[in-house]
Amino acid sequence: MDQIREGVRRFRTVVFPEKRELYESLAEKQHPFALFITCGDSRIEPSLLTGTTPGQIFVERNPGNIVPIYDETASVGVSSSIEYAVAVLGVDDVIVCGHSACGAMRALLHPEVLEKVPATAHWLKYAQPAVQQLERHRQREDESVRLKKLAHLNVLEQMSNLHTHPTVAERLKRGTLGIHGWFYEIHTGTVEAFNPETKKFEQWPHDL
Ligand SMILES: [Zn+2]
Repeated sequence: MDQIREGVRRFRTVVFPEKRELYESLAEKQHPFALFITCGDSRIEPSLLTGTTPGQIFVERNPGNIVPIYDETASVGVSSSIEYAVAVLGVDDVIVCGHSACGAMRALLHPEVLEKVPATAHWLKYAQPAVQQLERHRQREDESVRLKKLAHLNVLEQMSNLHTHPTVAERLKRGTLGIHGWFYEIHTGTVEAFNPETKKFEQWPHDL
């Protein structure tokens, strides 16, 4: 905890005073413009990646950046985050962001590792359609290529699951919500976004 304690000390004495006005303006309200759904992986830093400040993006994180199929009777935190961000806070956009070297995606390619972690195995069932799609196009590719393809397919699957959430469906019907699929490559800092016209993930922004 030593590093964390010193980090909190630095936040209180250096970081906070520099942005005191911003934090004070956020005392009673938040108006984030996007819901950012990504993996819990410690190498992803959503605010740093998107250049956003506190109050601007509502973040939901879980293993494999999963969006469960809507079920109002299930105790699923992700569904509650989606409802709150989309229906109450009124975000303009939802971003589903997968990433390179994802442990959850790797586990799906090697299901034997999931035997020791049954809760994770159960959670990742929402990514199984992506695994099945990958296997349909099975070719002799090395692990890193398959891992990236699976991460892409999983993002598309979770984007599709978003449509099962009534609050999302309602906003989409009104044309007031954008849904975006991203893939973040950790070791190059690259963001790829799914282009619905080419049906491919492409470097984003394009003019980089
Ligand atoms: Zn991950």
